[in-house]
Amino acid sequence: MSTQPFIVGNWKMNGTRAMLSEARAIDRGAARYPAVRVGIAPPFTLVTAMAEALQAAQVGAQDCHAEASGAYTGDVSAAMLADAGAQFVIAGHSERRAMHGESDAVVKAKAEAALAAGLEVIVCVGETEAERDAGKAEKVVTGQLAGSLPQGEDAAARVTVAYEPVWAIGTGRVPSIEDVSAMHCAIRAKLDAIYGEGGAAVRILYGGSVNAKNAAELLAVDEVGGALVGGASLTAENFLAIVMAASGPSTE
Ligand code: PEP
Repeated sequence: MSTQPFIVGNWKMNGTRAMLSEARAIDRGAARYPAVRVGIAPPFTLVTAMAEALQAAQVGAQDCHAEASGAYTGDVSAAMLADAGAQFVIAGHSERRAMHGESDAVVKAKAEAALAAGLEVIVCVGETEAERDAGKAEKVVTGQLAGSLPQGEDAAARVTVAYEPVWAIGTGRVPSIEDVSAMHCAIRAKLDAIYGEGGAAVRILYGGSVNAKNAAELLAVDEVGGALVGGASLTAENFLAIVMAASGPSTE
C-alpha cells in the first residue's frame, strides 16, 4: 500500500472565482510537503480554473453522472470532468446519498464511470448515529463497500475509500480513536475480501470534522491513509495545518 498520505479538501457548494487565491495558497503550501498528496474538490464551476492554476495539488470533483453523455439536464459526466482537468472524483458522499437518494448501486455505477473516464475515485461510506447506537456501524459500512465499490480490471489501483461517519460530518464531533481504528481495520478486511491481493493498495481516508487540532492523532491511527476534509479545507491556513500534520513530525 502507498504510504503517502492523501489529504483531500471537499469544498462542497462553496467557492466562486474569488476563492481561487485561497486555492493557490493551498497549492503553494502543498509544494512544501511533497510527502503528502494534496487534492481539492471544488464545485464543478471551478474545476477547470483550478486545474489550470494548481501545480502541486490535484483537482477533483464532488460527483459525476454514471453515463458519459446524454439527456441528463444539469448533470456532469466523468468524461467531462476528465476533460476539464480533474484527476479524481468523489462518489457516494453521505450528503448525496441522503439528499439525492443515491443508492449503493448508483454510487457503484458512478465509480465505474469515473474509472472508465480515466479518473481515480474516492468512494464514501459511513454510518448514521442511529446505526452506530444500534451496534450496526460495521455491518452498514461493510455493506456499503460491497454495494458501492467499482469492479473491473485494476479498479483497486484507482480507488480510495473515505470512511465518514454521517454524524461526524460538519458537527465538530469525531469518533474515539478506538472506534476509528476498529472501523478502518474492518474496512481493510472487507477490501481484502472484495479485491483480493489488490485490496491492500486501497487507501482508506477518515473524514468527519477533521481539523488542525485533531488531525495528527487521527492520521496516526493504523490504516488511516489520509483525510477527507470539509469545513477546514476552505482556507489555506486551516487546510495546510492538516497537510502539515500528515507530513509527520515537522521542523517548522
Ligand atoms: C465532508 O463533507 O466530507 C466532511 C468531512 O466535512 P467536515 O470536515 O466539515 O466534517
